[in-house]
Amino acid sequence: MKLNRREFVKLTGAVGATLALVELGFDMKQVKASTKEFKLKNSKEFTSICTFCSVGCGMICHVKDGKLINLEGDPDHIINEGALCSKGASMSVVPNSDQRVKTPLYRAPGSNKWEEISWDEAIERVAKKMKQIRDENWIDKDVDGDEEYPANRTEALGFIGGAQTTNEETYTFVKMARALGATYIEHQARL
Ligand code: SF4
Repeated sequence: MKLNRREFVKLTGAVGATLALVELGFDMKQVKASTKEFKLKNSKEFTSICTFCSVGCGMICHVKDGKLINLEGDPDHIINEGALCSKGASMSVVPNSDQRVKTPLYRAPGSNKWEEISWDEAIERVAKKMKQIRDENWIDKDVDGDEEYPANRTEALGFIGGAQTTNEETYTFVKMARALGATYIEHQARL
């Protein structure tokens, strides 16, 4: 391991401080636990799910002053039992990033810039567009030789689910897709 002078001083200082605490009779496990407790004081705790892959590991997160200050694997989660891979462990950069998109963005036809719109407007726009696409591309029957069969579907709409949706959400999602007549229904985990 190569260290510059500044890093060397930092490292020796940290090691020295730790040894001094041990020599003074401190239980380092307790010291570590207290430091963590102090760090998390007045923070809000909630559980979440890693957004990176289809495994869907559970996390415990702590938020203070609008910032995520701690993130760790949830030991009670059925999938990961407290473990996180390196991607999941580094997920805190996402919610704390100043580049994170927090509102829907709309780029008008012909425009070269995105503009922020409200969630209500975004939902209305998507709903209207879906209805228009469905109406314009509705297949009411299939023809096989001289025979005609009722079809009632559209091949112009596709739905894709994400690994972070629960079984119940996915059930509702697929029901909606089928009710709209969509046949292309996929899941992120299969791609
Ligand atoms: S912690 Fe790793 S394995 Fe678990 S969901 Fe995130 S990326 Fe996938």
